[in-house]
Amino acid sequence: MYLKVYYNRTFFLTNIKSGILSINLLPKKMGKVLIIGAGGVGTVVVHKVAQNADVFTEIMLASRTKSKCDVIAADVKKRYNVNVKTAQVDADSVPELVKLFNEFQPKLVINVALPYQDLTIMDACLESGVNYLDTANYEPKDEAKFEYSWQWAYQDKFKKAGLTAILGCGFDPGVTSVFTAYAAKHHFDEIHFLDIVDCNAGDHGKAFATNFNPEINIREVTQKGKYFENGKWIETEPHQIHKPLNYPEIGAKESYVIYHEELESLVKNFPTIKRARFWMTFGQEYLTHLRVIQNIGMARIDEVEYNGQKIVPIQFLKAVLPNPGDLGENYKGKTSIGCRIKGFKEGKVKTYYIYNNCSHEDAYKETGTQAVSYTTGVPTMIGAMMFMTGEWSKPGVFNVEQFNPDPFMEQLNKQGLPWKELQDVDLEL
Ligand code: NDP
Repeated sequence: MYLKVYYNRTFFLTNIKSGILSINLLPKKMGKVLIIGAGGVGTVVVHKVAQNADVFTEIMLASRTKSKCDVIAADVKKRYNVNVKTAQVDADSVPELVKLFNEFQPKLVINVALPYQDLTIMDACLESGVNYLDTANYEPKDEAKFEYSWQWAYQDKFKKAGLTAILGCGFDPGVTSVFTAYAAKHHFDEIHFLDIVDCNAGDHGKAFATNFNPEINIREVTQKGKYFENGKWIETEPHQIHKPLNYPEIGAKESYVIYHEELESLVKNFPTIKRARFWMTFGQEYLTHLRVIQNIGMARIDEVEYNGQKIVPIQFLKAVLPNPGDLGENYKGKTSIGCRIKGFKEGKVKTYYIYNNCSHEDAYKETGTQAVSYTTGVPTMIGAMMFMTGEWSKPGVFNVEQFNPDPFMEQLNKQGLPWKELQDVDLEL
């Protein structure tokens, strides 16, 4: 029997069954947190961290534009009476980061800037002796390619330094990875087929907008599709495979196979998986705009000469598109993201569907952002909480499915992202 109670200290009571009561005393690991990136996701992270001020003893938000940090800090102060320090930092510069880390001395840095900054922030963490958490894997600016190899290469350095790096702790990757770990732990002896399904059935009332950083989003959804089958990666044309899938409380939505980063770590960490795919819903209007953007060259990521100046078309496009962080006010409807899994339990075929539905209106009421930022920022805070409380803390670089899913799953229900499970249902896949 195993019982755990949190006060200022955490007690582990063990061996009650054998009549011997041994008590291990672990300090409740609380500490200062530094959040980098004052965008849509950063806004939610700061709100949720401030709501859990017993775990996060001091909070700082730093970003390229300090005025954006100040606006978020003022809102948080008004809502929860919690102070958030703010700072300007260029996260592409290791020396600037190191200076900031040494001054504030956080226990953990949460990286919710852009994937381009992952490696500089990890380097600065190593130099200053700080732990690290992010939501998206590293991408070089000049190539639309994302994979874990660059960050997994830090494994020995973090291990040697006795520091933890937690990778991919948003919703997808993040919750979808923890859902898979939870299914493997509690519902399956072997997972064979994994389909991650991501539906945004919300309407923001704009002709075209992206739900998170437009540059990163457009790079992701315009690349070739890719899925894993029988030990190999199979590439498809962009949006080539699609079919309507039914989402709970939403109905049928056309869903498209795209490549998503958690597939890479999940097939490695759950080697019984024979096929793993990622499906995302897109409306026809969105796809038409996307096609036009590509056809006219606005999705280009290389520099072009304009009026004697060099500009990158996709970065210019970002400047004229709606800011994803501002979409919340008129956003109606829900997101529904989950895992549809088939495999074996005790010799029998089993199907399992675990998901969360999140309302854009509710997310806006609580944090002033839409559900895509909300569903990313809440798990980011929970991952940070797992680290601070010692549940997810070991030296090295880890994807979230490599930790115990149970305390994280418990917090999802408490922190605004309750999940539901369906057993032995038609997965439609
Ligand atoms: P935004 O563009 O809204 O915010 C990014 C923030 O980072 C901005 O405030 C920006 O500053 C800041 N920033 C960018 N470059 C630098 C730099 N060099 N130094 C300091 N700050 C910088 O993006 P989102 O909030 O939508 O997304 C944040 C992250 O979350 C992205 O990495 C995205 O891929 C990831 N994500 C993960 C998801 C998941 O489920 N795992 C889902 C959605 C997003 P400025 O305001 O000055 O431009």
